[in-house]
Amino acid sequence: MTCLKPEAAMPADTGPNGADFNPFSVMQPRRPDTIPRDFRNGGRVKAADIAPAGVYLPNNNVMTPAMRSPDYVQMSTAAAITLGIMPGMLYRCACTRCLNLLLTYPEGCRANCAYCGLARHRESERDYADRNFIRVDWPAVPMAEIVEKVAADGENTPFHRMCISMITHPRSDDDTVTVLKQWTDRIDPATVPVSILSNPTTMQRADVETLKGLGADIFTVALDAATPEIFDRTRGKGVDSPHSWKKYWEILMNARDIFGPQKFGAHIIVGMGETEADVLTLVQQLVDLGGHSHMFCFFPEKGSLMDHLPATPRDQWRRVQLARYLIDYCDVRVERMAFDGEGRVTDFGLPQGELDAIIDAGIAFRTSGCPGKFREDVSACDRPYGDSPPSNIASYPFQPAGADIRRIRHQLDMEKPGEAYEPGEEFDDPVDNSEGGPDESGAAEARVA
Ligand code: SF4
Repeated sequence: MTCLKPEAAMPADTGPNGADFNPFSVMQPRRPDTIPRDFRNGGRVKAADIAPAGVYLPNNNVMTPAMRSPDYVQMSTAAAITLGIMPGMLYRCACTRCLNLLLTYPEGCRANCAYCGLARHRESERDYADRNFIRVDWPAVPMAEIVEKVAADGENTPFHRMCISMITHPRSDDDTVTVLKQWTDRIDPATVPVSILSNPTTMQRADVETLKGLGADIFTVALDAATPEIFDRTRGKGVDSPHSWKKYWEILMNARDIFGPQKFGAHIIVGMGETEADVLTLVQQLVDLGGHSHMFCFFPEKGSLMDHLPATPRDQWRRVQLARYLIDYCDVRVERMAFDGEGRVTDFGLPQGELDAIIDAGIAFRTSGCPGKFREDVSACDRPYGDSPPSNIASYPFQPAGADIRRIRHQLDMEKPGEAYEPGEEFDDPVDNSEGGPDESGAAEARVA
């Protein structure tokens, strides 16, 4: 017996055609279907026009109410469990440290990104507030109730950070400002700092300045794609979506000027057809600009335009995760690394002993994102299992140890002599972090001299 949900979309041991990576030629999104007129622009929810009444749990066999930001926002299932809004437990985690909030409207996001569960093409299939996003449901909650609950916890809040995720909607810029003000009016940003996951397509430089002026701590841009070609194919003209690589970089550079060093960054999804050299060159570029990369493993989100494509093979993902950590936190430059003809990392640019210490510390393989309160290289953004099922973890939402590290080493083809990984052994006697076990604060030290 297992409590793990059966998953269909698992990474193969090797990628397409026996390769251990997802090549560009394979990672082509399917075309969006035509949406019937009555379903467009949130038509079904607006026609029913049901008044919201408190917390709305998605897919609960009731008609979706007409909920709108800034009065309502959605939050991740993990945040809802941590706040006590939903029942549930998180596998091997006590809670999440980041309160991820998502703006919500009956019309939903007007973009059509190929890997995203919120994309516009899903209008005929699910109302916006019922769409799965990054593998889970997102309950809708009155913003006033969230602020009340977090303010009541004061210094004892479990959250190390709050993050407002903007979407592509004409109201998104103004409502982000209102949500941020509502938060900072009651909650000291020194207690729970705020990050903005921006939507550059609707923003101008003045919007970035406004958010900084209102107390936002970190500003991030979800490039998601590692190259302009993949960006256009997955978020631009290739899928009838309004985003452009140029505009995203314009706002990223505005954020660099306005928020300053270490206070801006970019999200990147690994395994959408870029090479490892492509993505790590981008990571180095961000570090050279003074920012950080927040990295995710491609997972074929159900209902998305890429749900038929393979999840990123774990060996590709682990190589990139490790190399990204070395560049972001250990002063190793991409030029010191070596790559083969397919752009795969063949040398991480460090002596094996130093590399072993970094691998064994495990932090490189955790979720990445804006920092929390434990240490700079441990992300507050530890929402569990956003890029993989718990049965085959891509980004660890807890401190990996023991059998977890042996599995990681197996995936990297770097097992230590006499330490072979036994498939499934991490489920036999898992390290339990759910009651304050060895977690972030106990993470082993690892630094390159
Ligand atoms: S803009 Fe963001 S929320 Fe909207 S479809 Fe693209 S990735 Fe999803």
